[in-house]
Amino acid sequence: MRNRIWILSLVLLWALGIEAQIDVASQRCATPAHFTPWLADYLENPSKRSPARNAEEIIYLPLAVHTVADNNGDGHYPTTKIFESICQLNDDFLPYNIQFYLDGDINRINRSIYYEHDNFSDGFKMMQSNKKSLAINLFIVNSAPSNACGYWHPSADGIAVIKNCMGKSGHTLTHEVGHWLSLPHPFHGWEGKTYDPDKETPLYHGINGQDTLFVESVGGDNCDRAADKFCDTPPDYLSLGWSCNSENLSGTILTDPNGQTFRSDGRNYMSYSSDACQTQFSPDQADAMRAYADFAKSFYINKDPLIQDVFTDPVLQVYPNPGEQLHYENIELEWEHHVNATHYLVQISRFSFFASVDYEFLVESNIAQVGTLPVDKNFYWRVQPFNAFDVCGDFTDMGGFATFDVTDIEEVAPSNFVEVYPTYVTISRPEVNLAFAFRDILQTDLSLYNSAGQIVKHDRLPNPGHSLHQLDVSSLSAGMYFLKIATSKGVLIKKISVQ
Ligand SMILES: [Zn+2]
Repeated sequence: MRNRIWILSLVLLWALGIEAQIDVASQRCATPAHFTPWLADYLENPSKRSPARNAEEIIYLPLAVHTVADNNGDGHYPTTKIFESICQLNDDFLPYNIQFYLDGDINRINRSIYYEHDNFSDGFKMMQSNKKSLAINLFIVNSAPSNACGYWHPSADGIAVIKNCMGKSGHTLTHEVGHWLSLPHPFHGWEGKTYDPDKETPLYHGINGQDTLFVESVGGDNCDRAADKFCDTPPDYLSLGWSCNSENLSGTILTDPNGQTFRSDGRNYMSYSSDACQTQFSPDQADAMRAYADFAKSFYINKDPLIQDVFTDPVLQVYPNPGEQLHYENIELEWEHHVNATHYLVQISRFSFFASVDYEFLVESNIAQVGTLPVDKNFYWRVQPFNAFDVCGDFTDMGGFATFDVTDIEEVAPSNFVEVYPTYVTISRPEVNLAFAFRDILQTDLSLYNSAGQIVKHDRLPNPGHSLHQLDVSSLSAGMYFLKIATSKGVLIKKISVQ
């Protein structure tokens, strides 16, 4: 009962936006010393521990993702990174038969006060005004209160994680979802307090002047009334971020109230050890999370999940063919539907290795209407097929295309036209195309001059007619050139830039 009183007072403190002073240095998580009433009740009533379902059965929970940027829309966390984070979360939870799926479209929020929020009151507003019902709501932001990697807000029941702590091999999201599923820190009671190895460790903690909590000892006495109250999580007093040794233990040697020394176990996702140390939940923690989902969040569980993974075969490209020239104002990309995919993430980059993504589209069909892209440029595109339950597939490399503008059609002589494109050529696609539409011109001489006026290339076409001729400029060094198209009826000169 005394526990209940301090929990109530804590929730009240949260609601009022008053937060206990937390050391701001290297905070892993800003979730306060909160012990969910549900977990207290569950642990006090062992009868409720019998699992409501077969432990082999996977529990599927919906994850609603909100990416937050500043007022100008700058700073959104990349979709590929969101997918990698969900895949890491599912990898971490797979041994405990809990999995998460993407609940609908990724929501984009452009608000600077949420993107960089330093107080829980703004975080509460962000969550309350944007959250989706019957889902775990994740808000990806640039900064969080107390310079923390993330937090779970008990009254808004939402999670915030900063961009720097998301992604592949990060476990902050796993930690915060652990909170959402009722878990306290294994060092519960030490939040906001700094363990000092030189001071004697007390037998009890006073929390908010309301109640006391046993400090967990190595021997395990009082373990069901100490810290997180799980007897299979060993004592841990470290409430500031820490890195571990090769055995995943703390460098700091701690002393329990009985004078026995130990090192904190960094393997537990709910500790404040660094990402590289974390590998597991304890069996009791896992049982509690599954029971919490079953008893407290049963309406959230997807009873009829679509669980087919997206086929790993490459996506088949329909249009354009690799290296094709596309008119810059009307770009459309098409590929064949992929087995088990409901959506596609399409990315376009100026770089073949996708060092930066210039354009991104999330589409449900097998066509992306790209529209206008800059003219006379090379682009590369790739497609990742996915569905809500499988966002972990690979991108299929679809190759590249170049953009051109048809306004370059020129009349050499009356009713004799030639189109020259591109006039801006790069090493990766070193050809200039000449599309002839000649009616009554026969012999045509092509001469390419460098900026010093010297001929560097010459071609003679006996009868171009209606044909496409390619001029290979791969042997030329970068610079400005002039292409002279000479016929018996007229001459045309085009400037060609080689990069
Ligand atoms: Zn935490």
